[in-house]
Amino acid sequence: MDYLPIFIQLRGSPAVVVGGGNVALRKVDLLLKAGARVTVIAPKLHDDLRVLAERGQLHYLSLEFQPHHLDGTSLVIAATDSRDVNAAVSNAAQARRVPINVVDDPELSTFIFPAIIDRSPVVVAVGSSGHSPVLARRVRQQIEALLPARLGALARFVGDRRKDVQKTLAPEQRRPFWERIIGGIVGTRVLAGDESDANTEFEHELAASNKSVEEAATEGRLGEVYLIGAGPGDPDLLTLRAVQLLQQADVILYDRLVSDAVLDRARRDAQRVFVGKETGGDHHATQARIHELLVQYAKRGLRVARLKGGDPFIFGRGGEEIEALNAHGVPYIVVPGITAALGAAASASIPLTHRRLAQSVTFAAGHALDDETLDWRSLAQPHHTVVFYMGVAQMPRIVDRLTQAGASPDHPAVLIERGSLADQRVIKGTLGTIVELCRKADVQPPALLIVGEVASLAKGDNELLAVVEAREPSASESV
Ligand code: SAH
Repeated sequence: MDYLPIFIQLRGSPAVVVGGGNVALRKVDLLLKAGARVTVIAPKLHDDLRVLAERGQLHYLSLEFQPHHLDGTSLVIAATDSRDVNAAVSNAAQARRVPINVVDDPELSTFIFPAIIDRSPVVVAVGSSGHSPVLARRVRQQIEALLPARLGALARFVGDRRKDVQKTLAPEQRRPFWERIIGGIVGTRVLAGDESDANTEFEHELAASNKSVEEAATEGRLGEVYLIGAGPGDPDLLTLRAVQLLQQADVILYDRLVSDAVLDRARRDAQRVFVGKETGGDHHATQARIHELLVQYAKRGLRVARLKGGDPFIFGRGGEEIEALNAHGVPYIVVPGITAALGAAASASIPLTHRRLAQSVTFAAGHALDDETLDWRSLAQPHHTVVFYMGVAQMPRIVDRLTQAGASPDHPAVLIERGSLADQRVIKGTLGTIVELCRKADVQPPALLIVGEVASLAKGDNELLAVVEAREPSASESV
C-alpha cells in the first residue's frame, strides 16, 4: 500500500490553497464542505472564488506565495500552473511538516485526493495511488451505481439510535441487531424515504430483540413484499433500486417474462419460485395462488421480491396484488420498471411521440377484444400511436377493427418480437401487410404491435427486417 487512506477532521482548522483558477476552485469547494477555514493565495482570482471571498466564506491574500504563509496551517494545496511555484509551496510545506497536495503531481505531494462518493455522513474514497485518476473515477462510478441515494439518511437514522441500543442490548447482541436493522425492513424503509414507518419497525425490533427468530415468527412478525418491474428483459435496463432490493430479498417470485439474465442479478442464495401463467392455463387460479404465496411468505417474516416483466402496473396485475397485500396488512414497496413498449420502441428506434407524427400514445391490451372497452375510432385517428400488448394471436382482428374504424391500409404498423433481447425481431409494414408478414415470419409472443405514423421510423439491424421489407410489395398484393 503506497498511501494510507484516512479521513481527516478539518472542521474549523486553517487550510491554505495556493492558486486562484478553476482547479483551485474545485479544491476550495471540497475544503469548505469539510468545514475548513480556507485562505487562498494568488495574484489573480477566479470569479467564483471572488464571490466566496466577498461573502466572507474564504480569506483572500492577493499576493505572490511566500513560505511564511504556511506557518500554523493544517493542510496545503498547490494548484498553480507554474511547477516552480508548486515546488516552492511543496518545500515550504514539507519543511513545516504540513501535509501538501500538488494537484496532478504526486512527486511533490505528501497526500493525494481520492475520487469521492459523498453520501454524507457515508463517504467512499477510491484511489489509484496516483497511477490513474481516470481509472479511480471509473471505479467510483461503478460503486456509485450500487449505493442507494439515501444511504446517508440510513447512517443518520442508525447514528441517532445508537445510544438507545447501547442501553438496551448487551455488547454481543448489538452487532447482529444492527445487521438485522440495516439489512432488513427498517433499512429498506429508510432507503425508500419512509422514516416514520421505519421508526415504528425499529421500535418493534428493539423490543423483540431479546427473542429468538422462531419466537418472533410465531408472534406473527411480518416480512414485506417488493413489487419490482424487471423491464423488458435486458438486465441493464433494471433500475438501480430493483437491483438493490433483488440483492436483499429472501424469496423471489418471478414470471415467465423475466429473463435468466435478470434473475442472475438477484441474491445467489435466495429461494426462487416460478409463478408464471402458462398460456391456456387457468389464469384466475394462478393469480389467486400468487396472492396466497405473497402473503404466506411475508407472514413468515421473509422479504419477498415479486418480480414482473416490464412495469408492475402496466398490464401486470400489480394492482390486484397490492389489494391482496393491503387486505392482509402486508407492507410493500413498488419499484417501477421499463415497460415493454418503452424498451421495444427504444431498441427499434421508434419515438412513440414525435412533434410531427404523433401527439399522443395509447397502451392497449390486444387480447380481450370482445369487451367493447376500446374506443377504436380514437385509436384509428392519424397522429396517434397505439401500442398493443398481448396482441399476437388477435392481430388479424386488431387490424380489422382499426380499418373498420377508418384507418387506412397504408397506415404504418410494426411488430417487435422479444424487444430489447439479443434475438429481437422487428417486422415493419402497414395495416395492409403486417398480418401476412408476421404469419410468414412465424411471430411468437412476447411481441408488441405498434400502429401509427411513427412506426415508419422503425429500424432493426436483423436480417429479417431486410427480408420482410424486400417481400413487402408481393405481400401487399396478396392482401
Ligand atoms: N407488465 C408488462 C406487460 C405484461 S403483459 C410490461 O410492462 O411490459 C405481456 C405482454 O407484454 C406480452 O404479451 C407482450 O405484448 C409484451 N411484452 C413483454 N415483454 C416484451 C418484449 N421483450 N418484447 C415485446 N413485447 C413484450
